[in-house]
Amino acid sequence: MLMLANLIDGRQRAPSTGRYLDVAEPAVGRPFARCPDSDAHDVELAVAAATRAAPGWAATPADERAACLLRLADAIEARLDSFAQAESQDAGKPVALARSLDIPRAIANLRFFAAAATQSGSESHHMERGALNYTLRLPLGVVACISPWNLPLYLFTWKIAPALAAGNAVVAKPSEVTPYTAWLLGSLVADAGFPDGVLNIVHGTGPSVGEALVAHAAVKAVSFTGSTRTGIAIATAAAAHLKKVSLELGGKNPVIVFDDFDFSDASMATIVRSGFANQGEICLCGSRLLVHHAIYARFREAYLERVRALRVGDPDDTRSDLGALVSEAHFGKVIRCIEGARAEGGTIATGGERVMVEGRCADGWFVAPTVVEGLSPQTVTNQEEIFGPVVSLIPFGSDEEALAIANGTSYGLAASVWTHDVSRAHRLAAKLDVGIVWINCWMLRDLRTPFGGTRQSGMGREGGTEAMRFFTEARNVCIDHGP
Ligand code: NAD
Repeated sequence: MLMLANLIDGRQRAPSTGRYLDVAEPAVGRPFARCPDSDAHDVELAVAAATRAAPGWAATPADERAACLLRLADAIEARLDSFAQAESQDAGKPVALARSLDIPRAIANLRFFAAAATQSGSESHHMERGALNYTLRLPLGVVACISPWNLPLYLFTWKIAPALAAGNAVVAKPSEVTPYTAWLLGSLVADAGFPDGVLNIVHGTGPSVGEALVAHAAVKAVSFTGSTRTGIAIATAAAAHLKKVSLELGGKNPVIVFDDFDFSDASMATIVRSGFANQGEICLCGSRLLVHHAIYARFREAYLERVRALRVGDPDDTRSDLGALVSEAHFGKVIRCIEGARAEGGTIATGGERVMVEGRCADGWFVAPTVVEGLSPQTVTNQEEIFGPVVSLIPFGSDEEALAIANGTSYGLAASVWTHDVSRAHRLAAKLDVGIVWINCWMLRDLRTPFGGTRQSGMGREGGTEAMRFFTEARNVCIDHGP
């Protein structure tokens, strides 16, 4: 059995508790590794190491900090296949997806923020009387990065890269469900040139490690991606210290298809992908598919044909479109949500059950891509995040109705709008209460743009300058030429 360890002060360390958690391989339904079940004592050690390392890292020239991030990116790229294999084994996702999306995007995060480190400048403002104001962007000191299981390395690097680029020392906590690639990354940190204690990784559960990290007085900011419930708990705990928090939370994203939809292969493929990529376990997935009455029948037929053609199977098989759901608990939740949709009066147009895969994956947690129909926008199925391969088809008649349905949940992460009417697209983009609007596309990401959601989908923005600002404190200095 593979034994993972914490990274504290530049050394691999066993948890002080001596306890470990099983890490399952979702496709086979059995543990393949054990990860530290750390506690507040390990957090204390990691925060102490980060506190010692922080002043030196903050004083390190930006181009040297960038060079460390670039070497780390190169080291991961040189091991792309083994990282992709590890991510797939740990999360159940197709290895082809890990190879084309998760790991390349993790590498891109490190490279992007390496560049940001060297390009971040300070602003200055002259006053008429001759005084000069300039703004220093100072690292915060020690910061916490807490990430979820769905895009493990991708979201782990999305947080640590800007935090390190901005000159902070980091204590990171990956999800205990998918700790493997963060551990692999940890083994490359010293050779990349990071001084001991600049990046610490503490494995364990939310209650044991996450809560201790958020509550620690020396931790100046918490960057969190995960569920809305946990995000609210973190915001509440952080408030006691007036700690900065960035919260990237859940979604119930609408994909809105208007009657001028082009029905091209590329558009249909993107819409199918928006629902089922990574088994629907992406916060940005479109789980509510709103389709104009005038094209509903034609769209439904074309869409279902494509969804039925998706292959669920062994993540190692490059022909698999969907792998297994991340854990037995999550698999159970998704199956219960599908039963809930039936109980609410929904019709299952396709899918709706476990998929039995033969061979080594016979006990894996596979669910068929599922399309539900006939439910009002107010039902639980259409209001609550499922975070699995389940899409609900909802017809609409007018732009106003589409907008009301789209905005009619407590979430506000992303929306994808399909129309060639520029005025309509422009009007909707202004009125959709979400952080990200895609027009005729989905999940087309540019790392320079602000990323985040409104309402129950989060607080604050990440990406580009937003992330660099989150991880720094602004100090204005005003120099006059003398009285
Ligand atoms: P989760 O909230 O259960 O856990 C996320 C992380 O927080 C894990 O590392 C966990 O151990 C830790 N944690 C749990 N309780 C904690 C606590 N009290 N204090 C501190 N840390 C704690 O979420 P998950 O199930 O791992 O991830 C799925 C969720 O993440 C979905 O809701 C999804 O929408 C959301 N998500 C959002 C984004 C986004 O960018 N908006 C991206 C990916 C996933």
